[in-house]
Amino acid sequence: MTIDVAEISRLDKASVLHPFTQLKDFATGKAGDPTIVETGQGIRIKDATGREYIDGFAGLYCVNVGYGRTEIAEAISRQAYRLAYYHSYAAHTTDELAILSDRLVRMAPGKMSKVFYGMSGSDANETNAKLVWYYNNLRGQPRKKKIISRERGYHGCSVISGSMTGMSFYHDYMDLPVSGIIHTGVPHHYWGANPGETELEFSQRRAAELEELILREGPETVGAFIGEPVLGTGGITPPPEGYWPAIQQVLKKYDVLLIADEVITGFGRVGSMFGSDHYGIEPDLITVAKGLTSAYFPLSGSIVGEKVYKVLEEGADRVGAFSHGYTYSGHPIGAAAANAVLDLVEKENLPGNAREVGAYFQERLKAAFAQLPIVGEVRGVGLMGAIEFVADRERKSRFEASLKVGARISKVARDRGLIARAMPHGDILGFAPPLVTTKGEVDEIVSIAEAAVRQVMDELTRDGQKI
Ligand code: PLP
Repeated sequence: MTIDVAEISRLDKASVLHPFTQLKDFATGKAGDPTIVETGQGIRIKDATGREYIDGFAGLYCVNVGYGRTEIAEAISRQAYRLAYYHSYAAHTTDELAILSDRLVRMAPGKMSKVFYGMSGSDANETNAKLVWYYNNLRGQPRKKKIISRERGYHGCSVISGSMTGMSFYHDYMDLPVSGIIHTGVPHHYWGANPGETELEFSQRRAAELEELILREGPETVGAFIGEPVLGTGGITPPPEGYWPAIQQVLKKYDVLLIADEVITGFGRVGSMFGSDHYGIEPDLITVAKGLTSAYFPLSGSIVGEKVYKVLEEGADRVGAFSHGYTYSGHPIGAAAANAVLDLVEKENLPGNAREVGAYFQERLKAAFAQLPIVGEVRGVGLMGAIEFVADRERKSRFEASLKVGARISKVARDRGLIARAMPHGDILGFAPPLVTTKGEVDEIVSIAEAAVRQVMDELTRDGQKI
């Protein structure tokens, strides 16, 4: 099929409200034409003009098994022909849904019991918030409702999940955060540590601050804490040493539930099946999406731990049916896609690949970038990594925002055929390639990124920026 690029661009500009796009620049053409993505294979996508890109971000950290996997397309097609839809209300199910749920409960960290399904990470976090409230109502703690999340955490864009997200530009002009969602300090040692403070000491300080916050709010009002095992959109930042054990100690002390938002880290990205496995996290509720179907179909899950589920079941005689659900909860095509994806994740040992190729990727990133004069920190784990750019390494000062250093590097990399994301908080270039990436492809990614960074360094020098 040949796409009429000019016509599709025109239709798109006239009718699509794009997420995270400067609307006026887009409408007036100042931001250029839309990229019409047409095909994908392995770790590469191709646009309608025939340009190919390495997708160093797996879409939005989601196409973990890579593009063009016929096994998944066939599973989707088979299910669509067999039964395209039935709901899961009032005890209806499908074979794919029951098999998937059993699988998730068995593979998830901690003692899990049931899975509730949605279509996005945002709605799964919304569900998890409602589960926290429901749980505490049923056990006679109606004030224990506040949810603590972290600054720079990202949990989605809906009303509650957007409130959990800890970056102000997701809140501004949107009347968020709503009350009852509060934020505590970000666990990023590079920016947050006091001079001479070790990672361990810094983690303990963050845990102490969390305890102070809980005491200030009143433990009887704090229902849950939500965190990504590794901060994603807030800058791809692995936790400092000792962070999760210290945090969990505080949560246990005050009977506060832990929601592990595994939307990015679930299904292999950090080199273990879940980020929680990697960091010794024992969640009460888990949020999954993205990698669950490798984005071949929109599907998310709230995995409910035994402790929470027991209270829900015990309360049922009193309160009646569990009154929460979406038309598409447990969609059979989504379940079939997820089963096919998990077959590949297991058969190809993608967590193992993320561990092995990820270690190589981290090494290569450090070797190529850590010594450059505009690089403050190179960080990551498994197949997620980031380079943070600073104006002055000694003083740890940021570039002026107007220089848009991160965005410029991302743009130059893209012009050179690599998609690496300018992360929204600071001058940060982020990577999260598909989990099928090979060492050879890591070399390609790093060499294009290095050329892009060096080009922008030259431009900055030429423009009189001291580096
Ligand atoms: N949680 C995390 C950790 C995420 O990274 C994201 C999306 O990037 C979400 C939740 C929201 O997922 P969605 O965009 O599918 O609503």
